[in-house]
This record gives sequence, C-alpha cells and structure tokens, in this order.
Amino acid sequence: MFAFDNSYARLPAHFFEPTMPADVAAPRLIRFNAALAAELGLTLDAEDEERLAALFSGNALPDGAEPLAMAYSGHQFGQFNPQLGDGRAILIGEVVDREGRRRDIQLKGAGQTPFSRRGDGRAALGPVLREYIVSEAMFRLGIPTTRALAAVSTGEAVMRETPLPGAVFTRVAASHIRIGTFQFFAARGDNDGVKALADHVIARHYPELQGVSNPYLALLNGVAARQAALIARWMSVGFIHGVMNTDNMTVSGETIDFGPCAFLDEYDPKKVFSSIDRRGRYAYGNQPGIGQWNLARLAETLLPLLDGSEEQAVTDANAVLVTFGRIFQEQWLAGFRAKLGLPSEQDGDLELINDLLAQMAESQADFTVAFRALGGLAGGRGEGEFTALFTDRPRLDDWLARWRERAGEGRTPAERQAAMQAVNPAVIPRNHRIEEVIEAGLSGDFEPFDRMMAALDKPYEALPEFAAYLVPPKPEERVSLTFCGT
Ligand code: AMP
Ligand code: MG
Repeated sequence: MFAFDNSYARLPAHFFEPTMPADVAAPRLIRFNAALAAELGLTLDAEDEERLAALFSGNALPDGAEPLAMAYSGHQFGQFNPQLGDGRAILIGEVVDREGRRRDIQLKGAGQTPFSRRGDGRAALGPVLREYIVSEAMFRLGIPTTRALAAVSTGEAVMRETPLPGAVFTRVAASHIRIGTFQFFAARGDNDGVKALADHVIARHYPELQGVSNPYLALLNGVAARQAALIARWMSVGFIHGVMNTDNMTVSGETIDFGPCAFLDEYDPKKVFSSIDRRGRYAYGNQPGIGQWNLARLAETLLPLLDGSEEQAVTDANAVLVTFGRIFQEQWLAGFRAKLGLPSEQDGDLELINDLLAQMAESQADFTVAFRALGGLAGGRGEGEFTALFTDRPRLDDWLARWRERAGEGRTPAERQAAMQAVNPAVIPRNHRIEEVIEAGLSGDFEPFDRMMAALDKPYEALPEFAAYLVPPKPEERVSLTFCGT
C-alpha cells in the first residue's frame, strides 16, 4: 500500500529516535489529498474515510513504516538552541514517487517524542488548516514547497491559552533535513556526523554533485542557489514566511513550516504578521538578508569538510555567500520584470520596479491587486482599476509613461496581458479568509475550507465563482497578527 524505502532510518543511530505515534481518541478525516496520494503511488481507497483517518492520525501504521523523530538544532530568532528536534512530528517513512523522486511522509501533531522538551507533541486544528491551505497554495503558485496529504481531527482537546480541538497534519517533503540538522552534529563536534549527513543530502538532493571535486563546497553552493531562488519567488507573490529560523529552512530548497506565515495585503516591506516576531527580524523585506544569514550558519558546519587550508575554506565559503546575494538579485529582478511585463532586460529596469514599489508602499496599494490590475492595463483595460490604487497621480502618470515605453515592445496587448497574468496571481490565501476558514472549522464546518481550496486551485485565473477571494480585506476584516503553529 505504501512502498516504503526508508533511507533516513538507515543513517547512524544518533541521527534520530525511533518513536511511535500516540493513539488519538476519535480520529475523523477532514481532508485527504487523493491527487497527491496517487502521485506518491499510495494505493488507498479515498472512500474509506475511517481507514484514512486511522492512518493519518497515527492510530494505524502502514506496513513498512519505521516511525522516527529527527534530531536537529537551530538558531531561533538569532539564538542558538543545540537541542530541538521533532518534538511533535514523526516521520513514518519515505516513498519513491511516480517520477522517481524520494518523498518523506510525516505526521505533525502525532504525540510526544524524546525531543518534545516541555511540549505536548500535539497540534491544534487552526494551525493544521493554515498549513494545509498555504502549503497547497504555494504548490499551485508553482513555488517549491512541502505538500499537504491529509488533515484529521483527533476528537481530543489540546491545551493552549484555552482548550482547542486537536488535529494531525500529514506533510510530504523532498526531505525534512534542515540547516539545523547540520548544526546538530557540528555543535557536538561530530564531523563524521556532518559528513554522513552531507553525503546523504548530496545523494538525495544533489546527485549531480557526486564525484565532483570539493563536493561539500559544491553542496553549499547548491543550497545557496536553491534558497536564493526560493526566497526570490516568495518575494514575487508577497509571501512572508514568518519564522525563518535555521531549523525551518530546508536544504532541498522547499518552503517548510507554515506557522505564522502570511501573504501581504497592502505592500509594506516592513510588514510582519507573526505575534512572536516583536522586532521584525523576519519582516517581508528582511527575508533575503536572513536567507543569507542562515546560509552562513550552514557554511560554518561545512568548513571542516572543505578542501584546502582553513583559510582557503573560509574564503571559499564567503564566496558562496556573495553568490547567494547575486543569485537572489538576478532572480528577484527576473521575477519582477515578468510581473511588470518587461520583455527584455534594460539598465533602468531596477529603478522602474523600485519606483513602482515605492509608490505602492506610499499608497498602501494591495500587492496582488496592483500587479493584476497592471496586467489588465497592459491588455487594454481602462486605467481606472490600477490608478485608483495610488494617491500621487502625477507621479504615477510619469511612471506609467515610462512603463508603457518598455512594456509595449514587440507584443500585442493580449500577449502582454497573458504573459503578465501567468506570473501575477489573482487568488492568494489571504489572511482574513484563512481566519474565516479556521473559525468555521472550530465549530465543525469545513465547507469554507473546501471552498477556499477550490478557489486556490487556479491562482492565476480570476474565475467569477471565486470573486470573493480576489478582494483585499475591508478595514474591519483585516487580520494584523498570526499566531505560531505551536
Ligand atoms: P516550530 O515552531 O514548529 O518550528 O518548532 C520549533 C521547535 O519546537 C521544534 O523542535 C518543534 O518540534 C518544537 N515544538 C513545537 N511545538 C511543539 C509541541 N506542541 N510539542 C512539542 N514540541 C513542539
Ligand atoms: Mg520548525
């Protein structure tokens, strides 16, 4: 039923703790991602909700599962914590999917593990629904991400500030190996551990690097390139991760850990939603800098494995950090050129993009609506929808004149619009809508959840039946804080 092949379980014993999921009282299936299950080659009867609820709550284990909790460390808000690890997540095993890609299947909220510290090992329904929605939305947007396979309610309460309904989330990832996983071994002076992990990661995520010279430097470069590209994609859709701790950054280049994440409504580079991020460390505009900071932490763990003298190793690792900045800048520029519909590369592009963003910030223009309206304008729609978002009309007109000169090059309006709307989403999982879904879910109504998932299925199309998902929140609907997934 699950064709497990558990490579992580074959790594040295101190990489993880074998841990069984705890039984829950009354598992009930909320949602099952049958399309993803098919992609993974799982043979499951989507009609047999009782069986699915048992499997995806941890009450029943499929044959061949080798449940374990992974060890890791991490810098949390800049402070190093040597002992984190899966405190409420259990990897049940790995499968090789239909395309030959190895994928982890993990239950989140499945009970305590040796890494739980004082935590209860549980997850509340709200954060489970949020992660389900946002991770699948990221996938539909075409951004590398972990996926949602199932959500199950447990019939048990979890104690937070108040008792909340409990749930288990089943996550699928290329792997759950984080920068913090490398830090776990490095912090213990266990260079053999770092090396075994690095070899595993190269074989699993960067097979093209097997046998190259200075392979661990190449690995660092590979992670840098993927993280830089990933964060550039986040920026292009207004995504704020919210907790870019080093234990929440994968080495595969997938987005992971959708805790207090959110999408921008009005454009503001300083925007923070997370209730625990009081100093704005993980604000929207800080994300590339933090990505580079995190990569420096990975580089430190790999230094002893790099070729040449210690001095040479430091020089080489620093060069990778510079490369990260360059790749990010290139990818960001390419992403925003496409959003503005600039068909070629020219010297003034950065200024043109930044001038628009500055005006959007000043006018508090909705990020998603503004780019979508610009796409409409490029296709010959009236200006009103776009210009109405801005407060300084003469300045905007000056910008529009410059933009028209560039965006008009060699394409019909219809072609221009099609190209722009293919990168400017109409539907994003807006915070106020997620809150609505969660609130309904807390009273047992999952219809808004299903409707929102349907709306997010084709994010680059503004379908009339999902018109309600296109609009920014009214002042009274605005959600300014999101709470951590714990
Ligand atoms: P996160 O904020 O989800 O990235 O988690 C940070 C760390 O806290 C990880 O080591 C988690 O496993 C752990 N953790 C979070 N919530 C819980 C919980 N309810 N019980 C036990 N450990 C938890
Ligand atoms: Mg985490």
